Amino acid sequence: MDHFLYRNGELYAEDVAIAEIAAEVGTPFYCYSAATLERHYRLFDEALEGTEHLVCYAMKAASNLAIVKLLGGLGAGMDVVSGGEYARARAAGVPGERIVFSGVGKTRAEMRTALEGGIRQFNVESEPEMEALNAVALELGVKAPIAVRVNPDVDAKTHAKIATGKSENKFGIPIARAREVYRQAAAMEGLEVVGIDVHIGSQLTDLEPFRQAYQKVAELTDALRADGHDIRRLDLGGGLGIPYTRSNEVPPLPSDYGALIRETVGHLGCEIEIEPGRLVAGNAGILVAGVIYVKSGEGRDFLILDAAMNDLIRPAMYDAHHDIVPVKEPHAGAEGARYDIVGPVCETGDTFARGRDMAAVEAGDMVAFRSAGAYGAVMASEYNSRPLIPEVLVRGDQFAVIRARPTLEEMLNRDSIPAWL
Ligand SMILES: *Cc1c(COP(=O)(O)O)cnc(C)c1O
Repeated sequence: MDHFLYRNGELYAEDVAIAEIAAEVGTPFYCYSAATLERHYRLFDEALEGTEHLVCYAMKAASNLAIVKLLGGLGAGMDVVSGGEYARARAAGVPGERIVFSGVGKTRAEMRTALEGGIRQFNVESEPEMEALNAVALELGVKAPIAVRVNPDVDAKTHAKIATGKSENKFGIPIARAREVYRQAAAMEGLEVVGIDVHIGSQLTDLEPFRQAYQKVAELTDALRADGHDIRRLDLGGGLGIPYTRSNEVPPLPSDYGALIRETVGHLGCEIEIEPGRLVAGNAGILVAGVIYVKSGEGRDFLILDAAMNDLIRPAMYDAHHDIVPVKEPHAGAEGARYDIVGPVCETGDTFARGRDMAAVEAGDMVAFRSAGAYGAVMASEYNSRPLIPEVLVRGDQFAVIRARPTLEEMLNRDSIPAWL
């Protein structure tokens, strides 16, 4: 459920007409609903009620300071994967004790920043990383709290580019080697083992892979405890999928997911961390674009938008489907059309949808991409020298630009021409 609905014949974000925002900021732009973000965070929080837990929002899904501040204010922790995300979390007021640091390639500089600024735990992904973290912690005279990310070798049954829990993926330590790695960790003076971490992929629409992974984590917890480690925290990752179409079957709800967590690891008495990103932000954001031209081609019509693959790369990168709807509500019995929906970038890959049936629209109209809140704005680039597009946050009847569109001058001023040219 989200808060992007038609009202009085036009699309609204909560109580604000999309057209009103467009008149102020111009198209294209991202628009987020505060009520939807809040609702999705609470669904996870409530799913784990009665169990000691922390919902650590995976910031890479949408990391605008305003979004991080909103979720942090509700009590969310943050899962960060870079020094940049760590800085954003801190700048948005999230205390270090609610930040977990994930990622396969943390640098020593990033480790130092997090250890000095405060960190709940590092999710360590390799032995060399463990040694580096130990060295940095010893230099600073502190102990770094760690969980080892294990790779449970389960098939997440999702798009290959976002599956992370098979042994051929770069992530984590093979679960079969985990006991040896924990033995090494326990011998390092700069580290304190606090738990186990697992994350098997993104956009999972079936609970079964989670079940397999969490059962393996439960067995490992018993084994590690028997080896004398104080395993008191389980970080179970993110990955719960969202519905990208209105018609398809719906993925499991956070409440089902919470029940599965209780069932598989509840008996261990560990504090639970989860790291949802997509489900919190995905359906809390839309991308609004203007129609530049409707172009008749050979046996097909192209809808040419002012948004392109640089603004939303998911269709090009993951073959992702986004529902695309007119901002003006089509009246009953409105004329239908079939479009190839494309952007202006000079690549055939700049195609959002092929042969898409929708209500007919005209040049000057606006359309909205649904489910664009996660892995949208954060993956944008300035390819083709197209300035990054604005982000807008709506709450009730208010809206604010939370990232302004840079001017062409600002964009050009980031380059410099050497004096010797
Ligand atoms: C990407 C990622 C997440 C979030 O995944 P979603 O599918 O957005 O929920 C959580 N944890 C880690 C380690 C990740 O890399």
